[in-house]
Order: sequence, then structure tokens, then C-alpha cells
Amino acid sequence: RQPIIAIDGPAGAGKSTVARQVATKLNLVYLDSGAMYRAVTWLVLQKGIAIDDECAIAELANQCQIELTPTQDLKFPVRVWINGTDVTQPIRTIEVTSQVSAIAAQSAVRQALVKQQQRWGKKGGLVAEGRDIGTHVFPDAEVKIFLTASVSERARRRQQDFEKLGQPEVSLEQLERDIAERDWKDSTRKISPLQKAADAIEVQTDGLDVSQVTAQIVNYYQQ
Ligand code: C5P
Repeated sequence: RQPIIAIDGPAGAGKSTVARQVATKLNLVYLDSGAMYRAVTWLVLQKGIAIDDECAIAELANQCQIELTPTQDLKFPVRVWINGTDVTQPIRTIEVTSQVSAIAAQSAVRQALVKQQQRWGKKGGLVAEGRDIGTHVFPDAEVKIFLTASVSERARRRQQDFEKLGQPEVSLEQLERDIAERDWKDSTRKISPLQKAADAIEVQTDGLDVSQVTAQIVNYYQQ
């Protein structure tokens, strides 16, 4: 199979932008696994299913059809459909963002989505980005990166994202709280918690711009 680059890390570390650029540079396919957990969360909210109704959510996750298409649009680097509905924009709202970690912690949801990711990655040729890519989804990935940044830097980046997307302004303090809470939920859950793979290279991105981080990863890949 062709190579796989796994990029994991906490919320707002810049994984999406960087992964997208690395994929373009190396002519690989970009896989945003977080978009899949967000899409399922959107569907759960839209159907009015309770967040703790694990049975109903499991059924939904097993039956839903998710499609991801990478784009050249910097605002929305991937278009996302679930059951034929384009949810590219609604999966980025605060409502979805605040509930996604609870749904991503459910084992049936993870099983269904990881299976789909592994099916897509069978032939390799991917830059896959998420929380558990290097540890669980593609443990044999050729390059594993763990992307981090301080909470304040990540909150600042998220604020810029919101601005770009024309979403209501949220204070830095609020964003820092939300990010810290999501980090905590993602790294303390029982199944495949957010964790640096033993063989991953940690890249601390405070003060670095996207092109510098991209160049660093391309460099690791080519070594
Ligand atoms: O990367 P993004 O912020 O879009 O991910 C949204 C959420 O999806 C994360 O906070 C996490 O709860 C979940 N997720 C996950 N495993 C992945 C990718 C995302 O649990 N591989």
C-alpha cells in the first residue's frame, strides 16, 4: 500500500489546515476524521436523540452514510455529507462542537467510524488527522505526528476561525475554557483517548505558521 501520514493532537492545534497542506504538497488524500464524529453529532442533534441514548446513537452510526470531499476552499477544506445532506457548515457550530466529545466517547460510534476510516485507508496514500489515528486507526502509519500548541494559542486560532466563518464572536476566555474541557474529555475517555503514539514526533506549533509546520512534516516524510 501507499504511505500514510497520521496527524493527531488536541483541539485547535492546527491539524486540519496543516494536514490539508501536507496532502496537497505530497499528492495524498486528506482525511478529516473529526468531521465524521461531528457529522454523527449533527445527525443526533437534528433527530432530537438524547446524547446518552447510546443504543439509538449506535444504530445511527452504523447505518449512516458519510461522504468527505477535500476542496481547495481554505475556509472549508473538506465538504461533508451525511445521508445525502451537506453538513459542511453546521458541523462547525458551537452546538455540535460542545457535544461531539460525548458522542465520540461511545464505543459503538468509534467502532463504526474507525471501520470506515480503515476501509478508506486500505490502499494508503492518505494524510489522516484526528485523535487516535497513530494509536488505533493506522498504527502502522509511516509517519506519525503529534501536533500541539498552548491552550492560549489554540484559543486565539479558534477565534480567528470563527471570525473567518462569520460566526458570533466568542471571548478568548470562553474559548480557552471550551478547549480545555474538550481536551480533558478527549484524553480521559475509556476508548482510544487522545494520546501521543509512542513512535510519534511531537511538533509544538506556538509561534510557527502553517507553512513552517507543513515544511517540517514534509521533511520528516521525505527523510
Ligand atoms: O478535530 P475536530 O476538532 O474536528 O474533532 C472533533 C471531536 O471529534 C474531537 O473533540 C473528538 O472528541 C472527536 N474525535 C475523535 N477521534 C478522532 C477525531 C475526532 O474522538 N480521530
